[in-house]
Amino acid sequence: MLILDGKIASAAIKEQLKLEVEKIIEENKRSPHLAAILIGSNGASETYVASKVKNCSEIGFQSTLIRFDDDVDQSTLLNKITSLNEDINVDGILVQLPLPKHINEQKVIEAIDPGKDVDGFHPVSVGKLVQGMQTFIPATPFGIMLMLEFFNIETKGKHAVVIGRSNIVGRPMSILLSSNIKYGNCTVTVCHSHTHNLKEICLQADILVAALGKPEFVKADMVKDGAVVIDVGITRVEDITAKKGFRIKGDVSFNEVAPKTSAITPVPGGVGLMTIAGLLKNTLQAYHLKQ
Ligand code: NAD
Repeated sequence: MLILDGKIASAAIKEQLKLEVEKIIEENKRSPHLAAILIGSNGASETYVASKVKNCSEIGFQSTLIRFDDDVDQSTLLNKITSLNEDINVDGILVQLPLPKHINEQKVIEAIDPGKDVDGFHPVSVGKLVQGMQTFIPATPFGIMLMLEFFNIETKGKHAVVIGRSNIVGRPMSILLSSNIKYGNCTVTVCHSHTHNLKEICLQADILVAALGKPEFVKADMVKDGAVVIDVGITRVEDITAKKGFRIKGDVSFNEVAPKTSAITPVPGGVGLMTIAGLLKNTLQAYHLKQ
């Protein structure tokens, strides 16, 4: 059984990006610039954004973190996005989700210039993805595709089962795996909260992607021998014995599932790190689009 180690795969991608930035700087050009907007003080969001900013600086990208209080009004946020859209020194814009209830998430996503939409959530980006056009792929599914490529996991003709149909993970993942691309060409089944016979469907999966946000939901009796299992889940589960008072759990019951698989991602240390690699690659792509 192969551990699909996100540390190894993301480090290799970051190293390559770092070399590309060094080349840009040698040509006396400015380096790629990501602007991240964080609203409020949600612990998980703070951690994700801090990690994105840190990863930018590690490879030589510029980054700007813009913070607003929880009670920021929607127009202030939209005005900020407009000014970032117009700023020729900003290549990529991301607004960390989820947003406070009083803000219309869709309006915010649609306010971002599709040319700077490095999260790939804008309807223009999604439409292009569906049509197989060059676009910004949402960072998590993009990171998973990069992982499949890094470990050279054969996907052609395989049955992939994706649990979850969210706009940020499950849906784009299902589109990518079914696309006529290298590391695509799967027959894809998308499962969700209304799916009947989930266990039977999962048992048919050569590639199982769990993205439902329910810790350790996928058990050994749901997984076919030799399957490739990709665990997207990240849930903070209270644990008083842990230093921070919680542990990160994936959607797969790793200890019992891993021995049945041919390859599996760990949590933490799997898809989460690849998501950052996907975001960094998108930011470089946005930079090159403007040159
Ligand atoms: P979401 O809540 O938006 O969507 C969950 C999906 O799972 C829904 O489509 C729902 O229909 C489906 N679902 C829920 N319960 C189900 C059940 N019992 N059976 C079948 N389907 C069920 O969540 P999301 O934003 O897609 O995130 C999913 C998980 O991935 C979360 O744990 C999240 O924290 C994690 N995540 C990780 C990364 C990363 O970088 N690793 C990035 C994004 C999200």
